[in-house]
Amino acid sequence: MADPRGFLKEGRAVAERRPVEERINDWNEVYPGSAGRALLPIITQQAGRCMDCGIPFCHQGCPLGNIIPEWNDLVWRDDWEGAIERLHATNNFPEFTGRLCPAPCETACVLGINQDPVTIKNVEVTIIDKAWDSGLVRPQPPEWLSGRTVAVIGSGPAGLAAAQQLTRAGHTVAVYERADKIGGLLRYGIPEFKMEKKHLDKRLEQMRREGTVFRAGVDVGTALGADKLTERYDAVVLAMGATEPRDLGVTGRELGGIHQAMEFLPQANRVALGEEVEDQILATGKHVVIIGGGDTGADCLGTSTRQGAASITQLEIMPEPPESRPAGQPWPTYPMTFKVSSAHEEAGERVYAVSTKEFLGDEDGNVRALRLVDVVFEGGRLTEIEGTERDIPAELVLFAMGFLGPEKPGLIEQLGVDLDERGNVKRNLTYESSVSGVFVAGDAGRGQSLIVWAIAEGRAAAAAVDTFLTGSTTLPAPIKPTERPLVV
Ligand SMILES: Cc1cc2nc3c(=O)[nH]c(=O)nc-3n(C[C@H](O)[C@H](O)[C@H](O)COP(=O)(O)OP(=O)(O)OC[C@H]3O[C@@H](n4cnc5c(N)ncnc54)[C@H](O)[C@@H]3O)c2cc1C
Ligand code: SF4
Repeated sequence: MADPRGFLKEGRAVAERRPVEERINDWNEVYPGSAGRALLPIITQQAGRCMDCGIPFCHQGCPLGNIIPEWNDLVWRDDWEGAIERLHATNNFPEFTGRLCPAPCETACVLGINQDPVTIKNVEVTIIDKAWDSGLVRPQPPEWLSGRTVAVIGSGPAGLAAAQQLTRAGHTVAVYERADKIGGLLRYGIPEFKMEKKHLDKRLEQMRREGTVFRAGVDVGTALGADKLTERYDAVVLAMGATEPRDLGVTGRELGGIHQAMEFLPQANRVALGEEVEDQILATGKHVVIIGGGDTGADCLGTSTRQGAASITQLEIMPEPPESRPAGQPWPTYPMTFKVSSAHEEAGERVYAVSTKEFLGDEDGNVRALRLVDVVFEGGRLTEIEGTERDIPAELVLFAMGFLGPEKPGLIEQLGVDLDERGNVKRNLTYESSVSGVFVAGDAGRGQSLIVWAIAEGRAAAAAVDTFLTGSTTLPAPIKPTERPLVV
């Protein structure tokens, strides 16, 4: 156990972010240096608050089953090599989750019943950042090759986790990505201020040295047909994400200046890293309205702030969530509470319980305003409140209303895999689709979700593929496709 009296002596403390007026003038991470380095001075005491509970509910909360009390104890004892070994045993990419995970482990922490929980995510990112700095993250190439080949389609966290596990198990793995660079949403969705791409690039270099082959700029289904794919490879993992965005078909949708978040964010990410983008969609000097209150909306907010928007309003159809855990979402479940991301600290106004009625245009055919109305949920139905209609200025409107599953034309239609009732690729308990030898992991099968789930599914799907190819496996399988622990 870490410090037996740690939780009695120390309160929860988290790393300080850089001042708002400084960080909105650059694209770097909001923490000074890096999230991990910013925490170093306080991390030993914070790890020491872990109570090493008899039943560590944090394991249940973490979809990867991270062995949290063990690495808390090792950090407290200053054994960083032991800590990264334990962390990597369950998580291929702690530098992604340590920065980007909403940390359902912390809402399941036993200390959180009557005190502030352990800063698990902060400890995680400190362990991995320190490990990279100390040269403790090394390539782990396989000792022998199986002679079997696997194609992974999609290079987001699910595809990367599956590829790393399968490469280390001795299979020859090629990761196909239609974008010009590898990384999925980690590359072009998530802005630099949440995770600098250098963390992704370091990990990709490790994977290359282990033997994983990356093929960027290949749209599988167009450049490489499904028949060739299944002929060429012994197994296929579909990790194509849920990239079909939800739209809003109200009057005025055709006006200029109305875009999907994933049209806006990738361009901004490219420019932040020095690329040139022709006719870039820009928030500069504009009244920006973001429709949708989740992670994607917050990323549009932080990006618009850095581009110098005149005003930013984020609309959410649901009512404002409570500050603390509601009675219907008891510990250790993951509660829906009011969250303030780094982007929310910086700028913008959040408006809850409103619905968009119409977009209003100017004489040039561009959006100039958005008509909204207050709504209430009654008996499971959404009702507009009479007399609350009003117009707000909107010169750039960004849709961040979620995703409807993987795109069907192309590879999915060519393969003929069955879909579930939500339009995701259907899979059995071993992540295999209705087509033998074709497996699915991450958002393509689960639907729009989180990085931690994508990594967990990539690991579990890799175990299933290994069994399919060799008859048995020693790879871990953290979760079943149907599992959603601690979600009410
Ligand atoms: C803007 C945004 C911000 C987010 N922020 C967070 C966050 O802070 N924390 C968090 O936990 N989650 C966040 N998420 C969710 C998280 O990014 C996803 O759940 C996760 O990336 C899913 O991983 P994946 O590997 O399944 O798919 P993806 O990351 O979507 O990767 C799929 C890849 O497959 C490629 N592809 C698709 N079809 C083909 C084809 N035919 N041929 C070749 N390649 C193909 C796509 O180009 C894409 O690169 C965010 C999502 C968005 C959109
Ligand atoms: S991956 Fe997420 S849930 Fe798991 S320990 Fe890290 S922060 Fe917690």
